[in-house]
Amino acid sequence: MSAVMITRKVRKWEKLPGKNTFCCDGRVMMARQKGVFYLTLFLIVGTCSLFFAFECPYLAVHLSPTIPVFAIVLFLFVLAMLLRTSFSDPGVLPRALQEEATFIEMEIEAANGNVPAGQRPPPRIRNVQINNQIVKLKYCYTCKIFRPPRASHCSICDNCVDRFDHHCPWVGNCVGKRNYRYFYLFTLSLSLLTIYIFTFDIVHVVMRSVDNGFLNTLKETPGTVLEVLVCFFTLWSVVGLTGFHTYLLSLNQTTNEDIKGSWSGKNRVQNPYSHKNIIKNCCEVLCGPTYPSVLDRRGLTQEDLPVPVASAAPSSSSSSSSPVPQTTHAVLCLQKTKAPLIPNKRTPDDAKPSIAASAQKSPSPKEENPPAPKAPPLASPEMDVETSINKDKTH
Ligand SMILES: [Zn+2]
Ligand SMILES: [Zn+2]
Repeated sequence: MSAVMITRKVRKWEKLPGKNTFCCDGRVMMARQKGVFYLTLFLIVGTCSLFFAFECPYLAVHLSPTIPVFAIVLFLFVLAMLLRTSFSDPGVLPRALQEEATFIEMEIEAANGNVPAGQRPPPRIRNVQINNQIVKLKYCYTCKIFRPPRASHCSICDNCVDRFDHHCPWVGNCVGKRNYRYFYLFTLSLSLLTIYIFTFDIVHVVMRSVDNGFLNTLKETPGTVLEVLVCFFTLWSVVGLTGFHTYLLSLNQTTNEDIKGSWSGKNRVQNPYSHKNIIKNCCEVLCGPTYPSVLDRRGLTQEDLPVPVASAAPSSSSSSSSPVPQTTHAVLCLQKTKAPLIPNKRTPDDAKPSIAASAQKSPSPKEENPPAPKAPPLASPEMDVETSINKDKTH
């Protein structure tokens, strides 16, 4: 029983190392825990449905038909902003490839010099200058990168996120560079919707109570009590959150920076991103350019899969049925056996002469495999596979 390697093409989102979940072939991206997001959705849709069912018909007839129309428009806007925040890439930064990570590690070791045993190595930090302020770039040990200035690693999604604000379980996603404005518009519109429903709930109860009495009104519209309760408790938290984010917007600051006190001045570092003008700061965050996702989630990449083969004995039928896997395996084996043996520090002393002798005897790969000028390069399946492996390495 042996195994052959086959190469298949997969979407890049299938191979991303973080803890996100993907739907619709990578178009939709969320955090793994989504329970609270479903609760948010349920509360918004449930409360609005009760409002449309119990209050809107009465208010449209006795007050104004524009009341339900405005409620529907606001409800749809809230839902659109919620889904846009929840289902998009918040600005995840791709992790370093193996070669890049090795190179960065080598650079850090060279810069730090030899640290004596038992001593803690210096923190991995790089300084950059932004608008005459020195900003520290911290190294992420998980993603193997020096994070851009405002990025942070989300422990729930296990990714570094650019301009990281916070991880919001209510929207089931990180809030970062690419979805912050939609998150802010969601909290703002949800505040308006909550105030709107709460106000017209009260108006509805008062108007009906004049004719039917308070208790009869509550019996006729049982949803009203539930709506008033949900809106009352939502109001404080959502309006408070919107107020806090309006304050952050005016300073061009993130929740993460506010909690850590990054620009509090204790390190003599002022916020280099602030324009020192509330209108300019708000315009930059809400109306500035939108940034493309750097993950290329739906791009194609290659994956090597081991496939077990029942019999190792060569047969013409089996080789003709799956020519590419066999060839791939053959090339991989060939590459293994062709690798010259070089004695190193760990090689036992008595084994070194034999290795040296075999290295001298074994011809170089060029000598062993002279190029066949007559055959076109693409005609050989080995060339195809080798090219694909090399591409994979350089990618
Ligand atoms: Zn990270
Ligand atoms: Zn997150």
